[in-house]
Amino acid sequence: MFDAIRNWRRRRVLARASIPEELWRAALAALPFLRSLDAAEQRRLRDLCVLFLDAKGIVGARGHEVTPLQRVMIAQQACVLVLNLDLGLYDGFENVVVYPGEFVPGWEWEDEAGVVHRHDEPLAGEAMPGGPVVLSWPDVAAAGDWQASGMNLVVHEFAHKIDMAHGEANGCPPLPPGMSAAAWTGALTAAYDDFAARVERGEDTAIDAYAAESPGEFFAVLSEVFFAEPALLRQNYPAVYEQFRKFYRQDPAARACVGAV
Ligand SMILES: [Zn+2]
Repeated sequence: MFDAIRNWRRRRVLARASIPEELWRAALAALPFLRSLDAAEQRRLRDLCVLFLDAKGIVGARGHEVTPLQRVMIAQQACVLVLNLDLGLYDGFENVVVYPGEFVPGWEWEDEAGVVHRHDEPLAGEAMPGGPVVLSWPDVAAAGDWQASGMNLVVHEFAHKIDMAHGEANGCPPLPPGMSAAAWTGALTAAYDDFAARVERGEDTAIDAYAAESPGEFFAVLSEVFFAEPALLRQNYPAVYEQFRKFYRQDPAARACVGAV
């Protein structure tokens, strides 16, 4: 019943809204990692982006004006994660907030001794359960040159959102039927322990050392690598690549090879 209503709503949105061709192409051109999607995948991504932009507000903060190109670039990267999943994974929050640069979130927390601390380090992005996704625009744009930046902020924060579908981000997103929680945890934990040890030893890792912060960050950073440089993940942590291939229902390394021919 709910599926029927949801599908009817989606058809109605798709019938009345669209993304102009020129704008769609300009956004794809700014994000080279999406070029390996085939024509059918691009069509599906485009429909998802229309639905995403209908459901979410992409709002500027601290004087930042969000352009139509920025809206589509953010939508493309958020939606590529759920290309073969359900956009409903992004239910439960309304807005994506875009800052003109890094921002200080200003959260406070209390330690065991009851002392209140304030987070005053600037951040490039933030995602919290039930809250908006917050992004610094220059850090979003950096995804256009993965070789130089090694980061994809939108994929990172939306991977956290998927992880948070059942609470705090802990690297264990809700797995679909047919996937084994034991296999997921086994592959991710072994890779996390290995990676954290490499970072601890001061090794210069090709994968961003920030992934060693926590299992939740490991999942988000490795999701960036899975989409932007899949061969690197497959080479470093093949068991994680295999779990991600099943989870996201995509095989970007195979796609990238086809695109390279
Ligand atoms: Zn993170």
